[in-house]
Amino acid sequence: MSERVDVEQHRADVAELLAGLADRPTEEVPVHEGAVGRVLASDVVAPGPLPRFRNSQMDGFAVRAADVAPARPGAPVTLPVVGDVAAAPGEPAPLEPGTAVRIMTGAPVPVGADAVVPVEDTDHVTFNARGDGAPRGSATKVEIARGREAGEFVREPGSDVAEGAVVLRAGTVLAPHHVAAAAACGIARLPVRVPVSVAVVSTGSELVAPGDEPGPGQIWDANGPALAAAVVAAGGRVGLRLAVPDDPEVVRTGLERAAALCDLVLTTGGVSQGAYEVVKDALPEVTFRSVAMQPGGPQGLGRFAGTPVLAFPGNPVSAQVSFVVFLRDLLRQAGGLPPVRRVPAALDAAIVSPAGRRQLLRGRRVDDAGGAGARVAVVGGPGSHLVASMAAADVLIDVPAAATRLDEGAEVITWPL
Ligand code: AMP
Ligand code: MG
Repeated sequence: MSERVDVEQHRADVAELLAGLADRPTEEVPVHEGAVGRVLASDVVAPGPLPRFRNSQMDGFAVRAADVAPARPGAPVTLPVVGDVAAAPGEPAPLEPGTAVRIMTGAPVPVGADAVVPVEDTDHVTFNARGDGAPRGSATKVEIARGREAGEFVREPGSDVAEGAVVLRAGTVLAPHHVAAAAACGIARLPVRVPVSVAVVSTGSELVAPGDEPGPGQIWDANGPALAAAVVAAGGRVGLRLAVPDDPEVVRTGLERAAALCDLVLTTGGVSQGAYEVVKDALPEVTFRSVAMQPGGPQGLGRFAGTPVLAFPGNPVSAQVSFVVFLRDLLRQAGGLPPVRRVPAALDAAIVSPAGRRQLLRGRRVDDAGGAGARVAVVGGPGSHLVASMAAADVLIDVPAAATRLDEGAEVITWPL
């Protein structure tokens, strides 16, 4: 008779076994490739100010605000246009008092100028012949309708971020807008956490890979792909995928490779009370126990060749529920991701439940109220093989071990899938 524990005890034991995975090493990724979705390992500081230099916010005319103050209210001011500054390498000549230069967005504002008058606020209206007809106004002078404040449409250095200030915080899950900020600061590489590397080992002589033709008595391996996907979705990396037959020698050889290559080994199948429980037979160093939950009761945990091993049951629903309940948050935390928040919801219909076993029923939110107001319905049956029914679920409904009946409207905790 194997040891019996409750869900919280097994969660605590798995957390203790995997405590060493929390200390992730750091690696660098180039900003232009592979950064999105990674978790920043440390704060990123601006190596210089952004913008780097004073530049124009508009296509227009760089002027001195004092030169365009109207002589009397409403009277336009006309200035000679003495040059052109584009967003291009180089430093423009200083602006002489009483003159204007045409300036383009992003171009350096000449020393001496302290404001930019947008082209549409002048008699030129546009610089672009393809915009709305030919550019208007004279090439050599510009008429400016009203006075401007000093600093108007001038972007000051460091007004976005100052030199030495934090641009991106440690723990940020990198998205395209973070890449933009880093790249704009000239940062070519970003420090990210190395994800936990997981070996996913399916056991079962009946298994063939999806895509292959099953013979009589054979089925497609659902757990390998499912757990590999779950690992990646939780911020981990699949270091090795194996499918091994129910032969303890072959299983052990596969696990030796897995343990040597990866930070964590996950197996499925071969842990219940049947005659050919290959993982139990192959791994005397692992503890096998019965957790008071359904599905996912038979579980194994321990170390093999120094590497933590979790042995999940073989039924595909059991394997997936085991991942969600015992491993998902630990893997996320090791990768620097927040845990998935469990959400209260109200049962859409009454349910009955066996005493003494915590049920994790497949459920579906039946309204989009979100939060505590959401209602959930049970989908599919209790069978641990109902993998297609599970695909219709978006939560697991957590029915406490002590409950034998829950009425319609009863509050339950749900685990988002
Ligand atoms: P086991 O614990 O190995 O006896 O497996 C329990 C049930 O789950 C059996 O019906 C297996 O055929 C099935 N099963 C085990 N592993 C997988 C897998 N990787 N994919 C799909 N079904 C599986
Ligand atoms: Mg099996």
